[in-house]
Formats: sequence, structure tokens, C-alpha cells
Amino acid sequence: MTATPLPGKPVADTLLSAVTERVRALPRPPRLALVRVGEDPASVSYVRSKDKKAGQVGIESEVHALPEDTSQEALLALIARLNADPGVSGILVQLPLPAQIDEAAVLLAVDPAKDVDGFHPYNVAQMWAGRARLNPCTPAGILELLDFYHVPVAGQRAVVVGRSEIVGRPMAALLLGRDATVTVAHSRTADLGAVTREADILVVAVGRPQFITPEMVKPGATVIDVGINRIEIGGQARMVGDVHPGVAEVAGGLTPVPGGVGLMTVAQLMANTVTAAELLARAE
Ligand code: NDP
Repeated sequence: MTATPLPGKPVADTLLSAVTERVRALPRPPRLALVRVGEDPASVSYVRSKDKKAGQVGIESEVHALPEDTSQEALLALIARLNADPGVSGILVQLPLPAQIDEAAVLLAVDPAKDVDGFHPYNVAQMWAGRARLNPCTPAGILELLDFYHVPVAGQRAVVVGRSEIVGRPMAALLLGRDATVTVAHSRTADLGAVTREADILVVAVGRPQFITPEMVKPGATVIDVGINRIEIGGQARMVGDVHPGVAEVAGGLTPVPGGVGLMTVAQLMANTVTAAELLARAE
């Protein structure tokens, strides 16, 4: 068997064209504030691609690039200004933050109505209750991808490997909200292969190159590879996922890396920004 590839591009394009229509229907364009502290190269590149994508769909964006030694007070003061600015519909603080800043305090400071990353504790609680309007972008984008490719979710056994607050945990919450039977595995899981082989839908967010091997996958399963790992193969820098390429011989469907989940994350951020703008427009 060779797995059907599940590329993110057609799904992201469909989502982004719907976003463009929704932006046009608003009284004024949404505005997304992107906040970055320091010059971590991955963060610089993520913020740049979010800024660029916003422009493509008619969302105004502003980048606030703060120095590495920014104090927590200064960052909180900026967030308070953005919260109070009625022109700003969405606020994203790029993670990770430098060590002198308490990440939890920053996430708590963002107005939940403008929290387009879905990381504020209020939105996290709403998500677990199954009624959030703003869900974390990577897992929400993965649900869009499953729906686009008509992968059934309700009643299916879903296994999420990884329990981070940005991918694993919210992915479990959203799959549960869609009536999957969900297991969350992590570094302390005993006999991981026996757990992953149960999965009809296997979502892997571990951050280890080619970690999931073919014998860990149930034949015909849908495998979602969230991993982004930069490694060297034969002296060449390459980006690989958390799933071994041999899994394509066993799985029914498999997302590529690059070109899979990563495209969905940015597209979903645009969808969340327009959702926040619609909610604000309705409240005015
Ligand atoms: P974290 O490092 O925060 O979490 C990794 C998780 O994997 C942890 O829960 C950890 O378990 C678990 N884990 C580590 N080793 C093992 C193991 N041997 N067996 C089972 N579980 C293990 O990573 P993130 O969730 O932030 O990211 C995961 C990957 O996804 C990374 O490659 C990242 O770059 C990528 N990513 C991609 C995105 C995209 O848009 N495509 C967006 C966000 C992330 P424990 O909790 O026990 O330590």
C-alpha cells in the first residue's frame, strides 16, 4: 500500500479564499499585531511569513519587533496598548520568549477576544468545553485538513503523540470535541508502538526526526506529521518531519513535510484573525 499524500496547499488555499471573502464583508479590514522579542531566526521567519500572508488576504498587519533584553513590564505595557486599541482585532506574541519574561503572564495579559493564537487560559478552558471561537492554529488547521480530505473523525480512535500546550493538548481537545476517542502519548508512555498502532488517526508532534516508524502504524491509518526538524543529510540541510518516510508504505494517508501542516498553521491564523474581527464588529 502507498499512502495517499495529504498536502496542505489545496486546503490552505480554500481556507484563505474564504478568509478573503470574509475580510471584504467587514466594515473595515482586520488588523493583526505581531509581537516578537529578540532575533531568534525561527521566530523572525515565522513572523515574516505571517505578516506576508496577512497582506495577501487583505488583513492589515503591524510587526512590533522588540529587543532581546525587553523587560516583562515593557512587553505587558505594549500588550495593554494593543488591547485598548479598537483598530487592532488580533494580537499574536511569537513564542518562545526570552528567559526574563514569564510566558504565562504574557499570555494571560492578551485580551481573550483578540487572542488569535488561542492560548489565553479563558480560551483554553472554552476549547476543552467544546465552545471556543478561537482555537490554537496548528490543531485547528489539522481539523480543516482532515475535513477537506473527508477523513472521518467521530467514533475513530485518535492517538496524539506529544502533549505540548501549543500542539498536543489542544489537538486532543479538538479531536475529543469532534467525537473521536482520544489517547495522548508522551515521553513517559510505556510501549508507545502498541499505543500508536491503535490509531485510525495518528497525530505526531514530538520534534524528533523520523521518530514514528512503519511498524508503529496501523495499516490504512491517517498520519498527520506536525514535526519540523532541520537536519543534515549528505552535507545538505533538509527539513524532515517526525514520521519516517517508510510509513507511506503502511498508512492510508500521510501529510508531507514540508508542505503539510505548516501551511495550515498560517492559514488558520488568518481565519482566527478574521473571526476575532467579526466578533468585535458584532459587539460594536
Ligand atoms: P515540544 O517539545 O513542546 O513537545 C514535544 C512533545 O513530544 C512532548 O510532549 C514530549 O513529551 C513528547 N516526546 C518527546 N520525546 C518523546 C518520546 N521519545 N516518545 C514520546 N513522546 C515524546 O514540541 P511542540 O509540540 O512545540 O512541537 C512538536 C514538533 O512540531 C516540533 O518539531 C515543532 O517544530 C513542530 N511544530 C510544527 C508546527 C507547524 O506549524 N507545522 C507548529 C508547532 C510545532 P513530554 O511532555 O513527556 O516531555
